[in-house]
Order: sequence, then C-alpha cells, then structure tokens
Amino acid sequence: MYAQPSGGLEDTPRGEEAQALLRNCVHCGFCLPACPTYRITGSELDSPRGRIYLIKQMVEGAEATATTRHHLDRCLTCRACETACPSGVEYGRLIDLGRALVEERVPRPPLERALRRGITGVLSRPKLFGALVRLGQSVRGLLPAALRSRVPAGEPAPLAARSGQPASRRVVLLEGCVQPGLRPSINVAAERVLERIGIGVERVSGEQCCGALAHHLGQATPAHEQIRRNVSACSAALDAGAEAIVSTASACGLMVKDYGRLLAHDPEYAARARRVSEATRDLAELIAPADLARASAERHGGPRVAWQAPCTLQHGQRMVGRVEALLAASGCVLTSTREAKLCCGSAGTYSLLQPELSGELRRRKLAALLDDAPQMIATANIGCLEHLRGASPVPVRHWIEVVAEALDA
Ligand code: SF4
Ligand code: SF4
Repeated sequence: MYAQPSGGLEDTPRGEEAQALLRNCVHCGFCLPACPTYRITGSELDSPRGRIYLIKQMVEGAEATATTRHHLDRCLTCRACETACPSGVEYGRLIDLGRALVEERVPRPPLERALRRGITGVLSRPKLFGALVRLGQSVRGLLPAALRSRVPAGEPAPLAARSGQPASRRVVLLEGCVQPGLRPSINVAAERVLERIGIGVERVSGEQCCGALAHHLGQATPAHEQIRRNVSACSAALDAGAEAIVSTASACGLMVKDYGRLLAHDPEYAARARRVSEATRDLAELIAPADLARASAERHGGPRVAWQAPCTLQHGQRMVGRVEALLAASGCVLTSTREAKLCCGSAGTYSLLQPELSGELRRRKLAALLDDAPQMIATANIGCLEHLRGASPVPVRHWIEVVAEALDA
C-alpha cells in the first residue's frame, strides 16, 4: 500500500516510519477472519485492513473524524492480524502510530479525557489500587453483581518466606501494578519455583507501571516517563549482576521487551532501554520442562487444565507451546480447546472502555475453553485472568501457581 505522507508528516521520521509500515500491506484481507472485532461486527472498518486504510488516510493528511477514532478505539491491539498476515505487516506499530495521530487531531470530549486519565491514574498506582481492592473485598457482598464480579473474593494470599537457598543465578522479578493487589500469590509462586531451580529473585526499587496502560491509550508523555524510570531501575540491577528482567504478566513483559524501540530516539536512554529490552524474559523462558519433570513423575492424576494463551504471549512475544510443555511436565492434563488464537476481550483497559465487545469476546472464549470439561483454566496474564474469572464457572489461575503446587505436592 503506497502512502504519501502529508499534513505535516512529510519528510519527518514519523512520516517515513508510517510509509515503510504501510508499504507491506497488499490489501489481501487474509487478516480479516483472525480479527475479533471484525468477526463480531462484520464491518470492514472494524477489521485490520479497514483500520490500516483509516491510518493511511491520516498519514496522507485527510481529515480525521470521531468515526476514525471510534474504529481505532475498538481495536484490541491483540495483534492476531500480525500472526495471520502473510506479508509481515507490523500492525501493532501501525495502530500505535494511528492512535497517536488521532489523539492529536480529534480531541476527546473533556469527560472522556478525564475518564481515561482517571483509569490509568488508578490502575498504575499499586498502593492506591491495592487499597481500593481491599475496600471492595470488605463490602463485596453489598456490591451490585456487575461490580462484584470485578472484585476477587477473599484476602490476598500472605507472602511466603523466601527459602534463603543460595543461588548462583539472579534475576529481577517485576512486581507490576495491578497484580500485587489482585493476586499477590502469582509472584510468590514464581519466586518459589525459580529458587527451587537455582535462580535467586530480587526486586528493584523505583519500579513503575510498565507504561502499557498509558501507551495503548495514546498517552505518550506519562508512558515514556514510566518507561524511563523503569529503564533506570532495571539498568542498575543489570549493572549489579542480575542476568534478566522477568515478568509474570505477559502484557508487561511484551511492553518491556519493546522499550528499546520506544526510546530509540531518546539520546539519553536509547542504549540503556535497548539493553533492558534484550535482557527481558517471560517467566516461561527461564524454566525448562526438565526442571519440572520430577513433579510429573510423582504426581499422578494432576488436574485437567484448559490453557488460555494471552495475545501478548502468542501474538506479541510469539511464544507458543512453552507454557503448555511446563504444565504437562508438572503432571497436568491439558484439555482440548477451540479458538486458541481468539482474544478473551480483556486487552488492558478495553474491558472497561468497550464493555459490550469485551463481554461478547469473553462469552465466546469461555465457551471454547470449557468445551472439554477442564477443572481449571490457566493463563499467563493478570488482565486475562481477572477478566475470565469474572464469568468463569471454574477457577482461573496463573500457570506458575499451578506449577508451584505441583512441585510442592
Ligand atoms: S495486513 Fe496483511 S493480511 Fe491484512 S490486508 Fe494487509 S497484507 Fe493482507
Ligand atoms: S489487533 Fe486484533 S482487534 Fe486490532 S485489528 Fe488486529 S486482529 Fe483486529
């Protein structure tokens, strides 16, 4: 697809980037059946190809409207279109670019702006968010059903004492922003499993939200501020000998792996951001099935588990089969599921801002996951976990919690 940047983008790095990204699209439409929003609405403007046309029009200086913004807002950024595209179109970068342009050219009504800032302001502050979760838990029984389903029942799990086993290897485990409030047991489980296989875990002081929440809402300034602070904190840990930066949330891990690209034009941070990205690993990349094989041999009749691969893991980090192998090595029986590539509808703040599409996707995803009568659903991202949990008849857990239990058994 040829585009001639205009309207202030001509001869600019952003215009050139857009031109290069758009050039790969050959309009074939192979991505359409993979797109969750197109499958629901049937509208070309809710498809990857339709959105790419909208972005091309903006790049060429055509007037952007509230309709343009509406259809870009409805994109989940799931990137299923990227893995379906035979031409290698980097749709994730294009939608970032399109969202930045639409935010500049079609200002939102003040109330909508305030709502979006409020959501990122609360979700990206772990202490404030954790206090709100505890408050919600204390009055959970009195809440209306729709709100109650968003608040996890029970007290957060107490933090287990660290084993203190000497470890020859050390990694930084990122805390995340909503996960400590909603499910602190995930990082506790990760810490225990890693220590068990000889990898010590440390936290970094000064960690911020990874920036994904603000970034995907087109709030570039706060997102870049959070990224810079994390780059400084993680660089210090790498200087001190940590071998990797690890996240138990696949969405945060994907974002940190992208820091190098996002700060590529920042003279002060570019090199350090690239180093942090290159050192970032998903938790599943640190553990080999052989590390867990003993659990499998000793654990007969493990639970029947339906695996839900988050889009950020399978389409973003392009990691397929790894967690499934770890669950099998822990003695779990993986049930067969349909629609493995379909987004569950969580997508960061999407479930709050687009509740109808998000709810329909959750309904479809749960039906596909529950087909083969699993005892639980396992996933790799706190957003998907909480979104599915809100409507699932079986428990929804992070895969590392399941593995930790198998090792303890
Ligand atoms: S994004 Fe890829 S699959 Fe979709 S229309 Fe363009 S070239 Fe075809
Ligand atoms: S990122 Fe997902 S929702 Fe957005 S266009 Fe691609 S497939 Fe559709």
